[in-house]
Amino acid sequence: MAMADFARPRGTYDIKPSETPAWQAVEDLARTLFSHYHFEEMRTPIFEHTEVFERGVGDTSDIVQKEMYTFVTRGEKSVTLRPEGTAGVVRAFVENKLYGGPLPAKLWYLGPMFRYEAPQAGRNRQFHQYGVEVIGSSDPRVDAEVIELGARFLLEAGVADARLELNSVGCPVCRAAHRAALIAHLAPIRGSLCADCQGRFEKNPLRILDCKKDRDRPEVKSSPRITEYLCADCQTQYSAVKHNLDVLGVSYVEDSTLVRGLDYYTQTTFEFVDDRIGAKSTLLAGGRYNGLVEQLGGPDMPGIGFAGGVERLLLARAVQEEEEGAAKIDAYIVTFGSDLTIFDASLRVLSLLRKAGVTADLDYAGRGVKAQMKTADRLGARVAVLLGDEEVANGAVTLRDLMTKEQNQVSEDACVEAVLALLSR
Ligand code: ATP
Ligand code: MG
Repeated sequence: MAMADFARPRGTYDIKPSETPAWQAVEDLARTLFSHYHFEEMRTPIFEHTEVFERGVGDTSDIVQKEMYTFVTRGEKSVTLRPEGTAGVVRAFVENKLYGGPLPAKLWYLGPMFRYEAPQAGRNRQFHQYGVEVIGSSDPRVDAEVIELGARFLLEAGVADARLELNSVGCPVCRAAHRAALIAHLAPIRGSLCADCQGRFEKNPLRILDCKKDRDRPEVKSSPRITEYLCADCQTQYSAVKHNLDVLGVSYVEDSTLVRGLDYYTQTTFEFVDDRIGAKSTLLAGGRYNGLVEQLGGPDMPGIGFAGGVERLLLARAVQEEEEGAAKIDAYIVTFGSDLTIFDASLRVLSLLRKAGVTADLDYAGRGVKAQMKTADRLGARVAVLLGDEEVANGAVTLRDLMTKEQNQVSEDACVEAVLALLSR
């Protein structure tokens, strides 16, 4: 038998002894930080009856449509390896009648999840999520507490600058109005949407805004925004959540296109994003799910929670540590275009700066301006020296202070002095 027959399945991996300390640190952090916020641990089975996820996660979601590991055991019902934590936790909350106890219930979990996806960095078939759920309160202070806890978790886990994106996806009332507008807006391109989106068009058009194939199309991007259709209650809730985040000093970016991939979300939705780990950049995500408890057979009770991926957290931290370890520079030269006169100027300025003791560098890979600016940031440069046709024609350079974002043009001769002045600020 060939060795390959014994290799681990695609999308799974071994956590080797050299790696387990990092995992244990994340597990310890979950235990201590979540208890500190007065959450209690809930452990649920690794597999559930398939209906729990079909009803919970929603049958138009990617997870239910194509990512679940589902099988039938010896004449039993269909069961599914859990693809996420919330549905199982809510099922357990209902089944164990925790709604009869003190409310809100504040629960956390950590463990393996399973999704049949195309494996790549930060996307595995067996992966691990930590998460929290608060069930039984719609107080907007709870929304803020949960979001602040997510921010704190990432920070304490060592990820310094994940960006918080915030939105409200409303309730069934506002969504009905938005749905009609969305269907009317997207009808002309219905035939050219991906097969999945054609299938969900009537059932759940909101899902199209989150489709990895269609969401970047201009017609989809210009779709009516859910935030413009919020009913009075959802508007009040959303404003209160933002106010509470301000009180807590948690900064956020509103993104009216943010739609989460699971059907149970209502009102507050949020993601913590770290662009440095590539296209798969969401570290932690969550939101309210006010209909879910009832959908899973419990009383009509609101809930909110988040889940984060341990693999992506460790990935983000590794990228960050690498950056922190990288040598920093003072100035980075950014060239607009590949004209010879621009290149000549870039060499002259680079050499002048270095002679004056300024650590400086430029891009030799012919990359675009955006990529060059990103490199400047990554290298910790304080100043970007911009060189384009206009500058060369004027015998000048544009200096951009990467901290204050101010920029001004100075002559090539005055460049060194101006850079030194900037660095000493
Ligand atoms: P994506 O858009 O990246 O597919 P998602 O919307 O499916 O994410 P959620 O179901 O909200 O993600 O899961 C929450 C978090 O769990 C993600 O932000 C990510 O950190 C992690 N996660 C989700 N799927 C995977 C996976 N297949 N492998 C590793 N981590 C994952
Ligand atoms: Mg996914």
